[in-house]
Order: sequence, then C-alpha cells, then structure tokens
Amino acid sequence: MATERGNAPTPAAPNKAESFQIRKARLRASFLALLPGRLADARRAVAELRAGESDHAQLDGLYVLFHTLKGSGATFGFRQISDAAKTAEQTVRHAMDSGGRVEAALPAELERLMDDLDALARAAEVQIDPDLTPGFELPQSEPEPASEAGSGARPGQPADRSQRMVYLCDDDQDLAAQLAGQLGCFGYRVRAFTNLADLREAVGIERPSAMILDVVFPEDENAGPKMLAELRAGEEERIPCIFISCRDDFGGRLQAVRAGGSAYCTKPIKTVELLEFLDRLTNPHPPEPINVLVVDDDRELAQFHATVLEEAGMVAKAVSDPEQVLSLLDTFDADLVLMDMYMPDCSGPELSRVLRQIPGHVSLPIIYVSSETDVGRQHAALAVGADGFLTKPIEPARLVAEVGLRAERMRILHSLMVRDGLTGLFNHNAIMQFLEVAVANARRAENALCFAMIDVDHFKSVNDTYGHPTGDQVLMALSRTLRLRLREDDLVGRYGGEEFAVVLNGVDIEQAKRILDALRTSFSNVTFYSDGQEFRCTFSVGVSDFPTFDSPDAMTEAADRALYRAKKGGRNRVEIASAQDALSEPSFESAGISDGS
Ligand code: GH3
Ligand code: MG
Ligand code: MG
Repeated sequence: MATERGNAPTPAAPNKAESFQIRKARLRASFLALLPGRLADARRAVAELRAGESDHAQLDGLYVLFHTLKGSGATFGFRQISDAAKTAEQTVRHAMDSGGRVEAALPAELERLMDDLDALARAAEVQIDPDLTPGFELPQSEPEPASEAGSGARPGQPADRSQRMVYLCDDDQDLAAQLAGQLGCFGYRVRAFTNLADLREAVGIERPSAMILDVVFPEDENAGPKMLAELRAGEEERIPCIFISCRDDFGGRLQAVRAGGSAYCTKPIKTVELLEFLDRLTNPHPPEPINVLVVDDDRELAQFHATVLEEAGMVAKAVSDPEQVLSLLDTFDADLVLMDMYMPDCSGPELSRVLRQIPGHVSLPIIYVSSETDVGRQHAALAVGADGFLTKPIEPARLVAEVGLRAERMRILHSLMVRDGLTGLFNHNAIMQFLEVAVANARRAENALCFAMIDVDHFKSVNDTYGHPTGDQVLMALSRTLRLRLREDDLVGRYGGEEFAVVLNGVDIEQAKRILDALRTSFSNVTFYSDGQEFRCTFSVGVSDFPTFDSPDAMTEAADRALYRAKKGGRNRVEIASAQDALSEPSFESAGISDGS
C-alpha cells in the first residue's frame, strides 16, 4: 500500500528497511572483497604493458576489467570507484583507438589511476566495515511542540519550509505584500519585488528555491515570461517558477509554458492552490521508494532483477520459492510483484490466482517475466489477472520503466481510494483503519498513542458570511497546517465536514496536548481574505490516549466527549479526555451544542 510521505501508516515497516539494507550491504561487501584481486590483475596487466608484452591482449583485458568495474562500482553505490574506473576505461579505449600502440606515458598514467583506485578501495572498506546500517534508522525524534506561527517545521517532519526562499514579483504592490504575508504564515521565507529589474538583481545575488512571477507588467504584457526566459538562459539548474496572472487566455498560458513556467494561477490567487504548487516544486524529499517483490525459481536471476530495481531507487525483495510469497507479503508492503511464469512447483498464473483470491491482494499489480514468446500463451497467462508481460532477457532500463510506471499508477489509484477529495487527507474510513492498526501496535509494543478530534469553531458562520468556497479554503488551509506541521509518524484524516482526526504515534497525553496547542495557536494566527475582508479561524480539540482508553472505539468516543467539553468551555482550546467524561457528558456528535452565535 502506498501512501503519501508524511502520512504513511507504519505497521510492519522495520523489516522492509532492515532486510533491504542488510542485503545491499552484503552485496556491497562481496564487491569490495573481490576488488583487491581485480585491481591486482589490472596492475599485472599494466606491468606487462610496461615490459612491452603483447599490447593488444593487455589492452583488451584492461578495457574489460575497467568497464566491468565502472558498472559494478556504480551498481553497488561506489560512485567514486566507478568514476575512476571510467577514466581508466577511457584512457585504455583511447590507446586501443590509436591502433593499440602503447605510448611510453601510458603505463605510468594507468599506474597513477590504479593508485587512485587502490586508495578508493581502501577508503570504501573503512567506510562500510564498522556499521552496516549507518543513518538508516528512522528518526525517533522526541516530539516537541511546533514553533510559533509561520516559522517553519518541527524536526523529523517532511516540510521545513523556513529553508526555502521564494521570490515574488508583481507590479501590484498591495497584492505582492498580501501574498508574501500569506505564504509567510505557512513558513516560507518570501521576498517581494514590484519590478523585474530588482528581481533580476536579487537572483544574481542569491538564488531562491522558487519564483512567483506576474505575467503582465506595465512595460509588456508578456514581461514575466520574458524575464524568466532571460534568467534561465545559460543556467543549468533551473529555478522553478509559478506564474500568476489576470490573463486567463490561451496566449498568456502558452507564453508561460514556453518560458518554462511549472504552474499557472489566475488572479484572484487562491493561496492554498499556490501553496500546493510551491510545496511540490520546492520539496527536497524524493517520493517513497517503490516496493517490488521478485519471484523467480532462478535464484540468481531473481537477485539480478532485484538489484537492477534497487539501483533505480526501488526496494526489491527476491524470492525463489513461490510458497513463501504469501507470508512475505504480510510483512513486505509490495507495490508490485514481478513473477516468473514457469516455476517447477507452481506456475506464475497459478500463483496469481492464489493471490487474487485474497482480498488484500486483489489489486496488487503483477507482471510476468518469461522467455515465452508465443503471443497466444502470453495472452492466456495475462487472462488470469496479471497486468503485463516482459520477455527475458529484459533490458534493465525497460524493467525499471515498466515496473515504475505500473507501480506509480497503482499508487495514484490507491491514494484516491483512501483520500478525501477536498483536502487530500486520509478519508474517514482510512483514518479509522489506521487508528485500529495503531492501537494494535501500541498494545504489542507498549507504546504511547493518542487520538485527537479537531473541529473548526463556528464554521457555519464562516460559510454564511464569506461563502462556501471560502469555507473550503479554510478547510484546505487547516488540513495543510495539520499535514505539514505534524511528524511523519502522525496520521491525519478528515473525519467528516469540518472535523479532522489525528493519530499521534509514540506520544503521551501531555506531549499530545503540547503539540495540539501549538498547532491551535499557529492556525489561529493565519489570516484569511475574502472579498477584501480579513478574518481568522480557530478550532477546538478533544484528545484521548492509550491505554487509558484501550480500544479504537473507546478512544474515539472519549476524544469526542473531550471535544464537547472544549466547545462548551468556550472553544479554541484542547481538552484531555478523562474517564469521568464518560459518566457525565454527552458526546459532541450527539449533542449539537451551540453557544448561541
Ligand atoms: P461549532 O463551533 O459548535 O463547531 O460550530 P460550527 O458552526 O462549526 O458547527 P456546525 O456543526 O453547526 O456547522 C458545521 C458547518 O460546516 C455546517 C456545514 O455546512 C459546514 N461544512 C461541512 N462540510 C463542509 C465543506 O466541505 N465545505 C464547507 N465550506 N462547509 C462545510
Ligand atoms: Mg465546528
Ligand atoms: Mg462539526
């Protein structure tokens, strides 16, 4: 199951990380163990070259050796070794191209390159030896309250926007100032300019993480795109740019695309929409790696395909016994299965049928890998519910492309199923399921766990005063605040309407209260604009903890009662659920309370 980074459920995750890292480390270690022997062979060949023995044979041998080293070095993550081998390979290639005549300088040059390689090999050994898994542990950062509004993120959380400088340029001074203020509320560092010359100068001094550019300026109706094109000329690393404009015509959009704009927002600007683009363009985190299970009775081939996929940044597990597939899938959260079609004890199509009969695997993508070239038989195999067919031998690039494409598409489909359309948060069913998993995990691991229910205060009057679309903007802004200011371990969902739910893993009730209070303060400082009017919003929270409340239902009900108390007590506050609530108070959902406003 794939989920957006920052909101991923974590059951059974450690196995995945551990086995991958250890396997990779083992492959790397065996590469390193073989390396001195290979380098010694190379040295011998170079010495023979120096002695003037049979140039052709030595050069051929050296070429193959360096070529292989270049590839396997890169495969196992020794970039410098690979680069050095590549230089050596080119040097030999050059000698071969010039008719195989060995210039007097060649052996000396190769020996110098060998010295480099020896040194790199020794350094790599030191690097890998003491600890197989440096820095791989998931950060167990101590939860601490969010800082004040607008000053960025907490440690261990995906979006620390305070590091991201954004340049904004619009000749409308008021709009520039207002937009800069809004983005600042969400943690971005923003510098606003009202003319393009100032922007150009600033970019020359410090490059921003992204730019927001107006299209029309007094001097030219396409001045913004023209400026971007100018800034981009000759630049290798391009600054992402979002255009904002009152022009909604095709011509304006086309100019923006041609200049290299990544997004286009029409005025009046929806801050949340702009933020979505900014976050996407400036987020330094790569997406979660794709998990692939490779099933092939040929152990080496399974391992090879897994290695190819891992080199492309995926997490792959190879298995040669089909019988192990089911139990493996319990702990390995596969996005896709790459399956051999002919295996001695159980064929690919049979294994697919077995998988398809298990509710959790009905939509798991399966790709067959086989030397079968008969199209009829391929179709028959696909008919039992597989999603693709690759013929052995497979080009690594093709394998990576096919697997990546299908897994990504599946992830998108899946995320649409579990997500709320307006806010992108988990929907009601998903967040309730995650609470169940979290309670089970907390019980097993004796971890702390809290569950919070959040409800926007007087939200009906926001709708009544400013209109439903503005109400939607508030909900989106709140969901973003929750998603981005909570830690990766926390799960955020839209419980329904203007109510949200948060599962706080590994956090006791005091810490939860601090975190939620900080979120509350932060959100209450965000200014919303609607038709020239400014307003702010607050929310109330009820929070319950495990094991004081020891089941998902008990936690939900307790949080709901605490929320009722928060509303009754004046709103804009966090209340902790206590066992007494259950005896005295009606729940928020059943009470429909109002303070008369
Ligand atoms: P309280 O402080 O007691 O929570 O008051 P409230 O006005 O927030 O609560 P109430 O439950 O009376 O009203 C909730 C309102 O939220 C009513 C409903 O129209 C509105 N709402 C629910 N879902 C959405 C949505 O997706 N978008 C918008 N704009 N409004 C929504
Ligand atoms: Mg409300
Ligand atoms: Mg409500």
